[in-house]
Amino acid sequence: MQYAQYGKNGPMVSRLGFGVMRLIPRKKGEWGSVNFSKSVPIIRAALDRGVNFLDTHFNYHHGLSEVAIGKALKGWKGHRVYIQTKAPMYQGKSLAHYKRCLQESLEKCGVDTIDYLFSHAMAMDAHKKHNAKFLKLTDWALGKGYIRHRGFSSHDTASHIQKYIKTGYYDAMLVSLNWRTRDMADTIALAADKGMGVAVMNPVGGGMLSETTPMITRLLPGAKTSAEVGLRYVLSTPGVTLALSGMNTVEQVAENTATAGRKSWMTPKQRTRFLGKLAKLEKKAAARCTACGYCMPCPSGVAIPAIFLLMNQAKFFGQEETARNRYMSYKSQKADISAAACVRCGKCLPKCPNGVPIIECLAEAEAHFTS
Ligand code: SF4
Ligand code: SF4
Repeated sequence: MQYAQYGKNGPMVSRLGFGVMRLIPRKKGEWGSVNFSKSVPIIRAALDRGVNFLDTHFNYHHGLSEVAIGKALKGWKGHRVYIQTKAPMYQGKSLAHYKRCLQESLEKCGVDTIDYLFSHAMAMDAHKKHNAKFLKLTDWALGKGYIRHRGFSSHDTASHIQKYIKTGYYDAMLVSLNWRTRDMADTIALAADKGMGVAVMNPVGGGMLSETTPMITRLLPGAKTSAEVGLRYVLSTPGVTLALSGMNTVEQVAENTATAGRKSWMTPKQRTRFLGKLAKLEKKAAARCTACGYCMPCPSGVAIPAIFLLMNQAKFFGQEETARNRYMSYKSQKADISAAACVRCGKCLPKCPNGVPIIECLAEAEAHFTS
């Protein structure tokens, strides 16, 4: 395992962190439950392989993620393990409520101190309304020794996240980055430059990029799986301290820890070649639809750009199964948002700056994914 300092005042953490939010449920699809007898050994397997960083949230698995951490750490005699949890400040509850939440987190995890307390899913509105409360909460918790550092996680725009970074309040942040969505790279570099630790979520796009195909492994000669490509891209991105992975099999733990333990993830030359090949594929993919969204909203609710992105994912990255599953999920929503819902009204056509023959392309997508 490789280690790096999590911000200028932070500890040395493993370059792979365990995202404790995709644990094995008691029943398939029952996110709120956790099968502890299956899940805890997977967390332990990661600790055994050198992972020393666990990321959670007060509410993951309806609060049972922190319980799983407590169980995994009970009796653990190995290296120091760092815990990062999050408070849902955007819910706008009282300071007293969040203090109670933190005390519950400490009890569930079975520790005296949480290493990092984050304001979860920070967005500009919530930041304006609730950040003063988060600072009060964390000042209190720091004073009591209940936490060591504060930070934020966010899915906000790069420009908003840069504003949060520049406040200077935070020791670390958690943002999304993967080889398909690279627009956070400059923001990550800025945070690192300001001395913050940077954790990255979704290195395989929350599972959307995990299907291994030759088109993806060819981007990085020698890589065996898409998960490896995803982690190597993130870990070679300047400013990234660690990548989080929500592992739920021991095999995933073995593969990801082996990847995080490499001496090098991508040399600068490999990275340039990787990005060059990727740009060529993306150019082909964007030749028709650039996902600008100008054609939306469709009066019939068709998710036009999302459907074309899935077609690109299938055609240019070979991820047929992942794209088909996602497409079929569009049909099983309350209102069908797949291409089948298109009534051929033509309202979207003049709005497309790229002249995409939307109606024909939607018909092509429906035939492709349902045949
Ligand atoms: S042609 Fe189809 S996709 Fe376009 S606006 Fe009409 S219903 Fe929506
Ligand atoms: S307007 Fe055209 S290019 Fe933009 S998302 Fe719609 S189909 Fe794609």
